[in-house]
Amino acid sequence: MITHNLGYPRIGSYRETKKTVEAYWAGKISYDELTRVGKEVRMRNWQLQKKLGIDLIPSNDFSYYDHVLDICLTVGAIPKRFSSLESKNDKGMLDLYFAMARGYQNEGKDITAMEMTKWFDTNYHYIVPEFYKNQQFRLSSFKFLEEFTEAKNSGIPTKTVLLGPVSFLLLGKEKESGFDRLDLLENLLEIYIEMISRLKKQGVEWIQFDEPYLVMDLSEKQKRAFIRAYSIIREKHPWLKVMLTTYFGELGDNLEMIMLLNTDAIHIDLVRSPSQLPEILSAIPSSITLSLGIVDGRNIWKNDFKKSLDLINKAVEKIGNERVMLAPSCSLLHVPYDLDLEASSNNILNEIKPWMAFAKQKTEELVVLKKLSLEDWNDEVQKIYKQNQSILSLKMKSSLIHNEDVKTRLAKADRMGRPVRTKFALRKEAQKEVMPLPDFPTTNIGSFPQTKEIRSLRAQLKKNEITKEQYNLSIRQEITKTIRWQEQAGLDVLVHGEFERNDMVEYFGEMLNGFAFTKNGWVQSYGTRCVKPPIIYGDVSRPRPMTVDWIAFAQSTTEKPVKGMLTGPVTFLQWSFVRDDQPRSETCKQIALAINDEVRDLESAGIRIIQIDEPAIREGLPLRKKEWDEYFDWAITAFRLACAGVKDITQIHTHMCYSEFNLIMDKIAELDADVISIESSRSQMELLDAFSEFKYPNEIGPGIYDIHSPRIPSKDEILGLLQKASKLIHPEKIWVNPDCGLKTRGWAETKIALTNMVKAAEELRR
Ligand code: GLN
Ligand code: ZN
Repeated sequence: MITHNLGYPRIGSYRETKKTVEAYWAGKISYDELTRVGKEVRMRNWQLQKKLGIDLIPSNDFSYYDHVLDICLTVGAIPKRFSSLESKNDKGMLDLYFAMARGYQNEGKDITAMEMTKWFDTNYHYIVPEFYKNQQFRLSSFKFLEEFTEAKNSGIPTKTVLLGPVSFLLLGKEKESGFDRLDLLENLLEIYIEMISRLKKQGVEWIQFDEPYLVMDLSEKQKRAFIRAYSIIREKHPWLKVMLTTYFGELGDNLEMIMLLNTDAIHIDLVRSPSQLPEILSAIPSSITLSLGIVDGRNIWKNDFKKSLDLINKAVEKIGNERVMLAPSCSLLHVPYDLDLEASSNNILNEIKPWMAFAKQKTEELVVLKKLSLEDWNDEVQKIYKQNQSILSLKMKSSLIHNEDVKTRLAKADRMGRPVRTKFALRKEAQKEVMPLPDFPTTNIGSFPQTKEIRSLRAQLKKNEITKEQYNLSIRQEITKTIRWQEQAGLDVLVHGEFERNDMVEYFGEMLNGFAFTKNGWVQSYGTRCVKPPIIYGDVSRPRPMTVDWIAFAQSTTEKPVKGMLTGPVTFLQWSFVRDDQPRSETCKQIALAINDEVRDLESAGIRIIQIDEPAIREGLPLRKKEWDEYFDWAITAFRLACAGVKDITQIHTHMCYSEFNLIMDKIAELDADVISIESSRSQMELLDAFSEFKYPNEIGPGIYDIHSPRIPSKDEILGLLQKASKLIHPEKIWVNPDCGLKTRGWAETKIALTNMVKAAEELRR
């Protein structure tokens, strides 16, 4: 029996990678310094895993930005618009790599970034590969090889991790018509074959091919692509040990095809789908080893050794322990580094810490599970097992988790069914009367730049270097300045700027019961952006108003309407580590009721517009279509619960981003928000295609300024996008706004971009 990891977090235990990359972008450190830190982070990961006793340690799981972008560069899938940036030297290539991720505005060049989207149903974002007709790939980066050699030279033989060729193609997009990206497979395989040859020379034994698409609904053509890819790899490299990894779901109806792939090992996700084990055990050919993904790579709860051992024993009984491997369900990329770094004075966290495990603890769990399943239990092993079980049974009964009032309130809401508002047309009339707005009203998604000064204010408050009063005063000054600026710029619906918020989930979670927070529990969200997901450990409720003072203050400084800003229930769920002792739908609806308390209080305070952000509604969608209906059923109900009981004159907005929404537009309409703002600028308004088929009933602001890139759009560019939108959406329904909040941008660029945006709207009105 072998233990292995599919991938280890790469941001560094104190976010060293993130900080160093950002310093490099800012020109503060050299290329050499950057790569030195990268190397250090990798080396520490490898050595730690070795020390903990992992048998097969991964390499090429490191990345300076994103593992899909890594492969783009490796196989030379470099969009043509970047070709002038290609370089012969390593630094030049790394700069090209960052330019592909972030866009490039320099030396008179103005190149748009590649698109970014959610990695399956996670909150990680990958860069979307771009494919062209008759595209020729060529080996252009040797990162995979260098990392293997680097580990080898320090005495650690590794398993190379590669994103599999079929998933790589499927994750990308055709950028011109007249072909199917799967047609590029043959040429792509040549590169993979060459990569494997290079690794062979260095003595690689195992390669892990990540093919998460194997848990998705696949067409016959896609299935054939898998068969083709892995038979070519087998044929050209019969010596290679091929590990095929699947995660985030069950193999389902792809099982039969997968078993034909002639690989040496298959990894399955038994956390998401433990029930698939028996079927797989009966189908698996005797030449294939089965890697059991039994430790949850997507959540932070302690492993239940009893449950895991039941699964392991089933597998061992059927195929023998020689053919069983143990692993986390997926890469540990999605969990924080190390629970031991949480030396916290925070009471709640201390109380729930024994229930938890981060990457390092999960790695330890694997090693223990191997012992538990192999050894005749000696005293020590028995003790570990007993301790694990007693912690978990204490947790189940803990009074920290259960709040009867919350349970009763939700039961009552459930009995009343999904809340319904007055018809949109009537609401709209009522809203127009109390709040007249011009055509193409301009607004923002919420946040304005979170400057160094603001972050340092927060840090000072935390360290008690300034008083709460001083902090509030400074934030109020910031709000006032921002409101004034928006008035001058001519925006119609103003926002207060969200300066008091560190993060749209954390900020609220800190004020809600049932949430706990870590000090250092960072996970990568995209590129150098990391988040510290809250931990929802118990029943959720809102003890007191959370935003009313700030929003009411902002409204008191202006005649124009100010939007109240809240985070939606599904987004809380998606961006948190959620308790696993009750269905996610229950937790989601509990959160919705807490938000509803806030919505009502904002309304009573005279706020006319309330935005409930649901950027994560798309990513919560199950990967398999057959599970969609059930998801939407509770997700939509939760959103409606959050705005239940508001008056007709109160305008509810929502916001969504980072995703493809085309397929689910009809469901989004069921949320029945009065206005939705939605990301679309990065995909050049592809989103709008959806509206040629589906007529969105309420109002909509397609994002026309890509805030994920430092590039500033011109007035004409924005105007062009808006004109395009006006052809598909009734002009009366269109709002004008950026595609997301501005917190990651600087003031200088923000001002120019928003001024251009307002000018474009004015011209369109004329
Ligand atoms: N209101 C939030 C903001 O502007 C929305 C952020 C998001 O969609 N990710 O920052
Ligand atoms: Zn957004």
